[in-house]
Amino acid sequence: MRIPLDRQSSIPLYEQIETYLRQGILSGSLAADTRLPASRQLARDLGVNRITVENAYAGLETEGLIYSRMGSGTYVLPPNPILTISKDGPGAPWPLWQQSVEFQDRTIKNQPLDAMFKKPLKHSPPISFDSGIGDAHLFPAEDFRKVLQTVMRRDGIAALDYGEPNGHGPLRETIVHILASQGLQTRSENVLITAGSQQALSLISQLLLKPGDVILVESPTYSGALDLFRSLNFKVVGIPVDGQGMQVEMLEKLLQQHHPKLIYTIPNFHNPTGTCLSSPRRHQLIILADRYNIPILEDDFVGDLRYEGRTQPALKALDPGGRVIYINTFSKILMPGLRVGFLVAEGPVYDCLVNFKRVNDLATSTLVQRALEAYVTVGRYQAHLRRSCQIFRKRRDAMLSAIQRYLPAEVRLDPPQGGLFIWLQLPEKLSSEKLLPLAWEEGVVFAPGNGFFPDGLGGKNWLRLNFVAQAPDQIDEGIKRLGKAIKRLTAAQ
Ligand code: PMP
Repeated sequence: MRIPLDRQSSIPLYEQIETYLRQGILSGSLAADTRLPASRQLARDLGVNRITVENAYAGLETEGLIYSRMGSGTYVLPPNPILTISKDGPGAPWPLWQQSVEFQDRTIKNQPLDAMFKKPLKHSPPISFDSGIGDAHLFPAEDFRKVLQTVMRRDGIAALDYGEPNGHGPLRETIVHILASQGLQTRSENVLITAGSQQALSLISQLLLKPGDVILVESPTYSGALDLFRSLNFKVVGIPVDGQGMQVEMLEKLLQQHHPKLIYTIPNFHNPTGTCLSSPRRHQLIILADRYNIPILEDDFVGDLRYEGRTQPALKALDPGGRVIYINTFSKILMPGLRVGFLVAEGPVYDCLVNFKRVNDLATSTLVQRALEAYVTVGRYQAHLRRSCQIFRKRRDAMLSAIQRYLPAEVRLDPPQGGLFIWLQLPEKLSSEKLLPLAWEEGVVFAPGNGFFPDGLGGKNWLRLNFVAQAPDQIDEGIKRLGKAIKRLTAAQ
């Protein structure tokens, strides 16, 4: 045990040891039944007299924090609730530097929600339409458990090494085949495996921008990207979205006005609106990015979850010259807890990203990458995708018909052709933020619209509903509850 001791301090060494252990026990970090080192051993480790350690242990024993068992050792006792330190700390103020850390957290906090979650519930847990992922009941958990075992048996310690800096080679090959089956051709030397696509977003934006630089994003856009960009102190400028995706007609003016360093876009089944960028706008976006020499970051998080309509090529597939950096993830089509995403890039930026990733976290779990590679052949991926699309289409239809049945006729939406979300507009005077606590009381939750806007101001009467995460009967019940909440809010206006 490595206890920090200040030998210059006027506080005796036995007291420093006692205080350190007491803190650990009362805060819970030293759990009940943890065996403390023998006094002789700890004295040797710390370079102190054995009596010093024995005095410290004696003090803690008197306080009822530890006990010794004859011939076995000294152990931590279960916590006494009266003595336990609260989570907020032992009463002493935090050091000053902690206050500036809090100040640097620039994510937008939703205060009313924190209060709301403390209220007692009629239906517990509420039906959740607010997440950004699929239905956990559909995760291929059992298959993945078997595959993990197979990989451990097959690859032994190689599965526990750091592995290649740009990711496990065979998995990168599989990704190349999956992308080719979706109409995007690349090579495994251009694929970098990341810890989810969130890490890809983080690495790319940090490599290309410095604090104060401007990033152009769709408005609204993925709230996790907004939180990231804000936390890095980038200036986030929004381009409005309509039924055809980003309004590229407004782009040139914004490029001239703000000189952005990067354009972040979700052209397929956009988060939160579910729209797809039209084909002419895709071409125009590439032309403008080229003319103004600005990289595009394409987030294709659910690009292949299409339930109907004509497919659109990825922007990356339209770009012959390395202008577009492409990111994608296994979180949505498989499981978010894998934390495996990837980016595709060419040229010097690829090498820099590999290096930047390496200095950030050394590697993404080799074991998980190998298991994923053993699990996802292209054939299996396509079969899984087909099955997911069948299930999700039914769920989308279930939500659309429940909305017709239970919500007021004035709500507006564009039925999405794929993806995860329905973006719903309430009548002008109804605020989705005010609706949420009522919906919570009725037993349903959704994502209010304002969290998706760069300025945090737009989207007041919009909400995002995830239609894939619940089975159809739950969707029906959840929308019914939402209808009740809307009625209550309307009556209170
Ligand atoms: N992009 C979009 C549009 C998302 O919605 C999400 C997650 N909700 C991510 C990226 C990041 O996901 P992950 O890190 O799990 O790949």
